[in-house]
Amino acid sequence: MNQSVPPAPGEFDLIDWIRRRSPADERVPLGIGDDCAAVRIAAGAQALVTTDMLMDGRHFRLAEHGPEAVGYKALAVNLSDIAAMAGVPLAAFVAVALPRDRAAEVARGLHAGMTPLAARFGVVLAGGDTNAWDGPLVVSITVLGETVAPGPVLRSGARPGDAIFVTGPLGGSLLGRHLHPEPRIVEALALHRAFALRALIDVSDGLASDLDHILTESGGLGATLDAGAIPVHADAEAMGRQDGRSPLDHALNDGEDFELCLVVAPEDAARLLADPPSPARLHRIGTVDSAPGLRLRSPAGDVTPIRPRGFDHLASDRRG
Ligand code: ADP
Ligand code: MG
Repeated sequence: MNQSVPPAPGEFDLIDWIRRRSPADERVPLGIGDDCAAVRIAAGAQALVTTDMLMDGRHFRLAEHGPEAVGYKALAVNLSDIAAMAGVPLAAFVAVALPRDRAAEVARGLHAGMTPLAARFGVVLAGGDTNAWDGPLVVSITVLGETVAPGPVLRSGARPGDAIFVTGPLGGSLLGRHLHPEPRIVEALALHRAFALRALIDVSDGLASDLDHILTESGGLGATLDAGAIPVHADAEAMGRQDGRSPLDHALNDGEDFELCLVVAPEDAARLLADPPSPARLHRIGTVDSAPGLRLRSPAGDVTPIRPRGFDHLASDRRG
C-alpha cells in the first residue's frame, strides 16, 4: 500500500537512510526492506505487542522540544508498556506523519533520538511507515517483545491484603521529565525474577488512576495509601508552588512518571523492602483492601476517600 506523499528528499531515500543505520540482529532475520519483518521469539515465550501514538500539541511540542526528544519519548513510552508486563522488548516499528515543510530533518531527528535508547535495551528498529502531510507531527510506535517465564505480569492478580509498591518518586513530570522517562525494563525483569509479582502497571495516567486500573481488573478491589509513604518528586513540590495544589496531589494525579506500580503478597513485602533486587528502588505505599475505592491515610491516622483524577484523553482537554 502506498498512498503516502513522499517528503523531500524522497520517502525511499529516507527509508534507505534509516535502513543503512539499522545493524543486523539475529533476532530479526528480516528487518527493514520487505513487506513485513520477521522476528524470532524464544521457544515457549509469548509475543507482547504494544502501540502508543504521540501527537504534536498533545504529548509534545515539536517547535519547543525538537525531534530528538520526541523520538526518545515515543520509544520510551512503548518500552515502558513492555516493562509493565515484565517482558523483554525485541523490535520497534515506527510510523510517522511528518510535517511536509521539514520532513527529512524531523525524520532524522526522531531517529537520532530513539536509536541510543533502542541500543541500550537491545531493541531492533525493524520497520515502520513514512508519510508527510500539511498537518503536525504524529509518531506511532509499535514495540514487539517477549514474555519471560513464568509469564507476563498482568493488572489482574492483586488480592486483599497485598502490599503496593512504586519504583520511584512521582509528580510534576510536566515540568520536563515527561520528555525523557527511563523505561523500567531492567527493574521489572529483576523484580519478576526474584518475586512473584501479583500485578504490575506503569504510571502513565497518574498513580491513583493506574492503581485503580489494577484494583478494577483484580475484581473490584480497593486500596489504602499511606500519604506519608508516597514518594513525592521535587518537581511535584515545584509545581505545587506554582499552582497551589499540594505536592501529594501532584504525586497522586499527574501522569507520565513511567515508574512502575506493583503488588505483591503480604509475606513477600518485607523481603522485597529489605532486599530489593538491583537496580529496582522500592517504596511501599499502601495495602490492597477488599472494600472498593481508594483511601488515603494521613500521618495522623485519619482515612479519607480519594478519587482518581488522572489523565483521560477523551474526557477533557485538561487534567483534573
Ligand atoms: P510497504 O508499502 O510494503 O508497506 P514501505 O515502502 O512503506 O513498504 O516500507 C518499506 C520498508 O521500510 C518496510 O520494511 C517498512 O517497514 C520500512 N519503513 C518504512 N518507514 C519506516 C520508518 N520510518 N522507520 C523504519 N522503517 C520504515
Ligand atoms: Mg508501508
